[in-house]
Amino acid sequence: MAQDRHPAENRMIDAIVATATPPGRSALGIVRVAGPGTRDVARVILGEQPFQHRQATVRLATHGNHPIDQVVALYWEAPETPIGEDLLEITTHGSPEILAAIVDAAVSAGARPAEPGEFTRRAFTNGKIDLTQAEAVETLIQARGHRARRAAVDRLNGEFSRIVREARTPVLDLLCLLEARLDHPDEDIPPLTDSEIFSALDGLLSPLDRLIAAHDRGRIERDGIRVCLAGKPNAGKSSLLNALLGRDRAIVAPTPGTTRDTLEEHATFEGLPVLLVDTAGMRANALDPTEQEGIRRAQQALAGCDVAVLVIDASQWVGGTLPAEELAHRVRIDQPVVVAFNKSDLIADRAPLTGGIAISAKTGEGLGALSLAVARAAGCSDMDQGESLLIGARDRKALSVAKAEISAARSDVLAHPGRWEDRVAGRLRDAHASLGAILGEGAPDEVLHAIFSRFCVGK
Ligand code: GDP
Repeated sequence: MAQDRHPAENRMIDAIVATATPPGRSALGIVRVAGPGTRDVARVILGEQPFQHRQATVRLATHGNHPIDQVVALYWEAPETPIGEDLLEITTHGSPEILAAIVDAAVSAGARPAEPGEFTRRAFTNGKIDLTQAEAVETLIQARGHRARRAAVDRLNGEFSRIVREARTPVLDLLCLLEARLDHPDEDIPPLTDSEIFSALDGLLSPLDRLIAAHDRGRIERDGIRVCLAGKPNAGKSSLLNALLGRDRAIVAPTPGTTRDTLEEHATFEGLPVLLVDTAGMRANALDPTEQEGIRRAQQALAGCDVAVLVIDASQWVGGTLPAEELAHRVRIDQPVVVAFNKSDLIADRAPLTGGIAISAKTGEGLGALSLAVARAAGCSDMDQGESLLIGARDRKALSVAKAEISAARSDVLAHPGRWEDRVAGRLRDAHASLGAILGEGAPDEVLHAIFSRFCVGK
């Protein structure tokens, strides 16, 4: 079997080394060394004084006779370590030169540079975490918005694995029941009737349906809401973009037609990742081809967004036609529209501002209410923050395979009344294996490699 393994796994006896903190200068930096040779590496670069499990000590790190830095070294002794092997974390002053020198010294002492995700892969191979938790490490690092971050922490803590096991246990129970009869036909195990197996299979389907639906509902929370700021020139779209970002990104000018291209910036609204798109103002009498092209791009951006925010200059607004309908008519979009009456600081009478939110890009009034309205319009409510974000694309695929197997088992019962036991047992076996693959059971090496190679080095 060894030849089927990823090279990293064949070399699990190596000590590996990598910088765990990002490149650049900072207060502190961390280098990690792991694997069976770690103690030797530690002795060579940090001195002979013995290490105690989970105890940090201050040491002078050296390469040959050359001092590198005064460091804090934390030693974890296998198997009680996060990755199941000896682990050494060296905290240095945060200079790239120091970090590189420590890595060099560790390599001279016998460690090899780690591959991307190799620390986490070892934790998985050593049974410290399952595959859903391993994936959560990278998801957590990449998560944008506090809801995604919380979901990733839950996944890292094994919340999703628990949900998957909960859906899988009854599959195994039913499979055992059928196999007991198939393996011991002489024993007195009463057969399930067609209607009993039917309702048992239905019972297996419902948690899978629930998880698949949760995943699909979570798309917008995972990928973020694309929010387009639209409206007439000078309504204050660029000012609003800057106010929402809390910094000057777009050029603000009193002359209409300043924004000629679309600008995209990331932000978070109510903990949801948002891509804010500032568009060129929509005016019928655009002056030159550049502005006309800007308007064409704005319409394209509107057509591809999840929510449009129609910015209206409240000081120019006299009430009348519902602006959302006007916008929908003009650019023919189906997405929800939130109306923002900007420049509310300029007006005393708010009576005409119906059907929208009074905001001021200048004073910040109403920006919280606007964020909330956008999150609601995108269909994200607090109800969604549970399972929907826990489930990734790989999980959804495996859940669908399991669901398809169980649905096929139902069809087998219909097609072969009273003679379905073999077929249904086969389907349940496949469904069980597919759910197990989510946790990493029997995952082929290409799959593991594809997952871990997305990680950054040092993870
Ligand atoms: P855009 O063409 O829609 O992007 O509009 P801009 O953001 O460039 O703003 C046009 C003008 O309106 C600028 O002079 C801004 O300073 C002004 N403006 C924008 N928002 C507000 C606001 O909330 N209050 C006030 N008083 N002026 C604003």
